[in-house]
Amino acid sequence: MKFNGGYNVMLEGAPSIGIATYEKPDALHLPLFSDCLDFSLLQVEHGESVKKGQVLAKDPVNYSVPLLAPMDGTINLEIAERHITLENLSSPEESVSDEADVDDDKRQTLLRFGVWSFMTKLDNGRIPDPETVPESLVIPVFRFEPFLPNAELLLKESLDQFIEGLGNIHKTLDDAAIQLILPETESALKAPLHQAAEQSDWLTLYEVPETYPFDHPALLAQMLELDPEKVWTLDVQAVLGAQGALDSNRPYVKRTISVSGPMAAQPTHHQVPLGYPISLLVGQASNTELRIICGGVLTGKVIDSAQLGMDAECVALTFLEEMTEREVMAFAQAGFGKQSYSRTFASVFKPLFKEKFTTALRGESRPCIFCGFCENVCPAGIIPHLIHRYLDNDRPEDAYRVGLDKCIECGLCSYVCLSKINHLELLQAGKEQAATEAIEG
Ligand code: SF4
Ligand code: SF4
Repeated sequence: MKFNGGYNVMLEGAPSIGIATYEKPDALHLPLFSDCLDFSLLQVEHGESVKKGQVLAKDPVNYSVPLLAPMDGTINLEIAERHITLENLSSPEESVSDEADVDDDKRQTLLRFGVWSFMTKLDNGRIPDPETVPESLVIPVFRFEPFLPNAELLLKESLDQFIEGLGNIHKTLDDAAIQLILPETESALKAPLHQAAEQSDWLTLYEVPETYPFDHPALLAQMLELDPEKVWTLDVQAVLGAQGALDSNRPYVKRTISVSGPMAAQPTHHQVPLGYPISLLVGQASNTELRIICGGVLTGKVIDSAQLGMDAECVALTFLEEMTEREVMAFAQAGFGKQSYSRTFASVFKPLFKEKFTTALRGESRPCIFCGFCENVCPAGIIPHLIHRYLDNDRPEDAYRVGLDKCIECGLCSYVCLSKINHLELLQAGKEQAATEAIEG
């Protein structure tokens, strides 16, 4: 396979390989909304006592995927809008749901125990219909975007369960092929995974250069010429969640997230139940005004200030310093502490280092100067500035003609742009509009 483009953004604040002990919360605040989900059908009442794994709400638009109680507790619906608060929390973090039998239909089991909502279709980023199956499932084991959770940590104690989980998912999805993405570099995880692949005819490993975003499942699907409508993806933790659900009726209600970035006091990982108060995690960051991003620094989304607890989709909290003042004459500063793709700052004379990244853009958005950087880094082989121009001029059919559908939304074009043009936002909006129009017919 021949990879083009890509670029490793070097930033200070990567999470250490360890899991910090987290402060026990007084309450969990489960958001009824997230990027993809809207749990609008409440299944509980104010004051009701619930058990771990009990369904609290459902998303009627997304095949009724449930929001589950992460612990035993009492429901409070009056603390915050669009949240279910769980108080009087009690113990059974390690217990297993006392739901009776697992469904014969294993896909319904994944739905019931909170795993199905982690399946994503590559063509539109949406949750797939549980009545359907993919031809392939592409799973990135390691993630290259700064500051996502570390794969070796996630699988240190659970590689066997991960491999069993892959087998279980393969059977559950009617023998779908599974492709794993691994880096070419050394890792203790690789030998057991290679062994598992050699012993099966449905598991294939692809080793890719350790450059962002060559770990992206949509990129591998494009290179293998798989039909994106028939390819799904999910992450490493969801595979472990699926194994727990299928093997032990275990509800999937706890995630290991990275809490990192240049402004995190001690960048590391935390294993927290869903709904864990964001304020307790922010408390560990510095006092400076922060921008909190759910996800990695290139593709994550700024957390809504109304959101009180961790939602299921969030795998990382990234803290950046919020620059409230303009950087005057930023372009004229030597920039010994700044990294850039253009290598125009004085920092090129220093040994390799990681930048203390902030939200500053180093100047306002300007017209494109046709430097070609966005085209150089684009792993999908398309021309971001051209697509941007078509979308900006309300010509989506031309944007698709020159490859908008190939964009994997890695955000590199926005990062390297000398003119500070936010390509990613417009590309995502263009694709979203096309998807909505397709659904509406
Ligand atoms: S156009 Fe899409 S795939 Fe290419 S660099 Fe930009 S976000 Fe990444
Ligand atoms: S990186 Fe920015 S300035 Fe350079 S060609 Fe692309 S859009 Fe234009």
